Amino acid sequence: QFPFGRRLPCDIYWHGVSFHDNNIFSGQVNKFPGMMETVRKITLSRAMRTMQDLFPLEYNFYPRSWILPEELPLFVAEVRVMKDSDPSWKPTFIVKPDGGCQGDGIYLIKDPSDIRLTGSIQSRPAVVQEYICKPLLVDKLKFDIRLYVLLKSLEPLEIYIAKDGLSRFCTEPYQEPTLKNLHQVFMHLTNYSLNIHSENFIHSDSVNTGSKRTFSSILCRLSSRGADVKKLWSDIISLVIKTIIALTPELKVYYQSDIPAGKPGPTCFQILGFDILLMKNLKPMLLEVNANPSMRIEHEQELSPGVFENVPSPVDEEVKVAVIRDTLRLVDPQKKKRKDAQGNICLCLPHPKGFTKFPCLYWEGMKDKQHKHHSLKLSLKLKFYLKLGLCSSPEHVPGSSESLLAERAEEVTGPRGHEAALPSLCLKQVFPKYAKQFSYLRLVDRVAALFIRFLGVKGTTKLGPTGFRTFIRNCKLSNSNFSMAAVDILYIDITRRWNSMGIDHKESGMCLQAFVEAFFCLAQKKYKSLPLHEQVASLLEFCECHLAALAERRLLWGWG
Ligand code: ADP
Repeated sequence: QFPFGRRLPCDIYWHGVSFHDNNIFSGQVNKFPGMMETVRKITLSRAMRTMQDLFPLEYNFYPRSWILPEELPLFVAEVRVMKDSDPSWKPTFIVKPDGGCQGDGIYLIKDPSDIRLTGSIQSRPAVVQEYICKPLLVDKLKFDIRLYVLLKSLEPLEIYIAKDGLSRFCTEPYQEPTLKNLHQVFMHLTNYSLNIHSENFIHSDSVNTGSKRTFSSILCRLSSRGADVKKLWSDIISLVIKTIIALTPELKVYYQSDIPAGKPGPTCFQILGFDILLMKNLKPMLLEVNANPSMRIEHEQELSPGVFENVPSPVDEEVKVAVIRDTLRLVDPQKKKRKDAQGNICLCLPHPKGFTKFPCLYWEGMKDKQHKHHSLKLSLKLKFYLKLGLCSSPEHVPGSSESLLAERAEEVTGPRGHEAALPSLCLKQVFPKYAKQFSYLRLVDRVAALFIRFLGVKGTTKLGPTGFRTFIRNCKLSNSNFSMAAVDILYIDITRRWNSMGIDHKESGMCLQAFVEAFFCLAQKKYKSLPLHEQVASLLEFCECHLAALAERRLLWGWG
């Protein structure tokens, strides 16, 4: 706990709610600036829509969604068209208030005309979404999965997924939605906070029974029924990576605003809660992302009417303790220091031609320039020597100053036995591990990089008209068909529309989503016949190329 009045810098700050809980200038904070805003229902739906426009197949794990009230006419029109083209389609929709949680204000409808636009909860902005009617059932009950994901770093992107999660069960047997059962929350909504009030709720005293179980217990069950659990995991990993790729552009805008590049500041990491629903065919669908997932490991039990007691929950404990323990292990500042030390002492092996029987240890600055040296990090070199049988312990690496090496080895490997005493990591790295497969999806990230570059004054998240004009001019996007007057009109039109949607009135100017829309518009204009993602990729290359040439010219002028 941060004692009152104490202002000494810490290694790790564990904030309860957001990045802004304290003013932090160093160390690591367990929250990213802007995360709460980025994963709100409306913002998430917008980010997913942008990705669905670019890559419809890759992002079909998020239900089709519309934002209320502004997209109500669009929702009505699109549903009408879909119904006309397929009269057998009998959809159900779920309406979820923006910023709501624990099922608050959620209701199901069969027709767009059933949307409630009056009353205090109902008049809140909301997302209306296609309802997934055929979920996978276990014991005839609908359930969802809560998976914990660690976003360890934004730049470079580092993502870890917990190997186990929670499965939260409904408490009434599931039936596909009909007008009669639409309002039965214990049948349709899996929220723990709702179902705990059902008389059918069973507090789990083991990990594979009751209304909250471990995800691994469900996987075991599916596997025994012959389901392809490996494929399911791989689909879940891909869902998580793609979702984070959709969120990073916005997060980077917030990040540069709170922690400007080049200035001393903290770094951030964050545990996110992913809510996932499995369809009957085992396809995982994303429901939402939580910036502040509950880390409670006990639950309230009513001992006698009105008398409650907190009792340990073995399922929560099993999953959550491991997530927090391993997050701390991964962001361990001592480990970081050891890693830095490891980076500093590069070891060099002589070129094979001049191979001497006992290769020597060199400090980086002492490289023997007559030889071409292959650098190996200390830990690698130790492994190498141990494997070759050239030494039995770090102290015996030939050519080394024994005491120095032993000391350094301690720094790299940690005090002996410390890591070994801990269970193996429950957090599995998925990015950059699988980065190659997903890098083509990171187009909006590159658009955001352009946006940030032209933001100008540090600390802002919105682009002014001058910044937008400079972007057009530097990227050579204006020509006889697209005058600077047309550029101004584009800026004003798009900015006004986004600002009228009223998400953030703190600053005036063009927000990232508005810039992305303008960018897509320019890409469509310039590369007419291509699919959208190719239009955007081509325009990005065009802009990046012009900016690189400009930077080069500026460098030359500088030298001149
Ligand atoms: P909240 O933040 O209020 O919990 P969610 O988006 O998680 O809102 O929705 C609450 C519950 O409603 C989910 O846990 C899930 O059981 C159900 N649900 C949400 N969206 C859908 C959907 N598109 N299809 C089927 N069920 C859904």
